[in-house]
Amino acid sequence: MIIVLKSGASEADVADVEGRIRAMGYTPHTIHGELRNVIGAIGDDRGKERLRSLESLECVESVTPILQPFKLASREVKRGNTLVRVGSVPQTVIGGREIVVMAGPCSVESRFQVLDVAHRVKAAGARVLRGGAFKPRTSPYAFQGLEEEGLKLLAEARRETGLPVITEVMEPDKVDVVAEHSDILQIGARNVQNFSLLRRVGEAGKPVLLKRGMSTSIQEWLLSAEYVLAGGNPNVILCERGIRTFETATRFTLDLNAVPVLKKLTHLPVVVDPSHGTGHWEYVESMAMAGVAAGADGLLIEVHPKPEEALSDGPQSLKPDKFAALMGRVRKIAQAVDRDL
Ligand code: PEP
Ligand code: MN
Repeated sequence: MIIVLKSGASEADVADVEGRIRAMGYTPHTIHGELRNVIGAIGDDRGKERLRSLESLECVESVTPILQPFKLASREVKRGNTLVRVGSVPQTVIGGREIVVMAGPCSVESRFQVLDVAHRVKAAGARVLRGGAFKPRTSPYAFQGLEEEGLKLLAEARRETGLPVITEVMEPDKVDVVAEHSDILQIGARNVQNFSLLRRVGEAGKPVLLKRGMSTSIQEWLLSAEYVLAGGNPNVILCERGIRTFETATRFTLDLNAVPVLKKLTHLPVVVDPSHGTGHWEYVESMAMAGVAAGADGLLIEVHPKPEEALSDGPQSLKPDKFAALMGRVRKIAQAVDRDL
């Protein structure tokens, strides 16, 4: 249920209503708005009618049901956009006017590779460095990542360039070590419904980028985001990375419909990954431009100094000069849709 407080309601009123919600067995999530405060009461749907009695309080304007199955992720609860802040001052803000580009190799492979790419994507205008240390590979015989050594190399690249770092975490018991060395925790497509992992990153104090699963509907994806939000972590970024269809000309089908649909349904920032979405470097620039034109708040792009030697996802990785050219073209699209880059 959504409990909207009257515009003159005090902090004591908020605390009082929160206490009553807790006493009824629900968890209050308060959103402090510019004009008024809204409290989402989250819990077992059965018996939610009891919450309606709060309407009799002087400070409460209305109590209405949240119609969507996802609650805290819904625009019904929060009309304004969620801004996710990463890095140190000046912070990078994801979900605001700026299109935030996250770029780097699929996998961290060596010290030289990650530092070289980090400097070059930064020079081209990327605001976040990406790189996988724990890799979700289809085959158990494929390169699985440098693991903790890779995390340390990412942290070194962050120290050298000042770029915040995003990297994937695949297991609940690795969340602490990944969070220690990175700024954004990436949940990969294959783990979008790994509910114990989602609960665990809900408790982590770091923003989470949640990729769409290759067979996940938008509603299922938002319910996965809900696990993280309900766990107490409000900083969730959604990433469309392509879904499975009958089409084989590309690796996946990048569902750009998802961008405006998500913008309507949720206040969370939306990022597009044209690298996994297409699987071929020569389509990445077009789909990066299309993603920004569709309203995405950012891009996640794979860049490798020598894609032909990459240990994972070489065919879809851009060389640094191609990435710089992409940035120039995406910047023009950003301007056309009244965004900064
Ligand atoms: C990745 O970002 O390298 C990755 C493995 O992505 P996804 O989970 O979308 O396949
Ligand atoms: Mn990859």
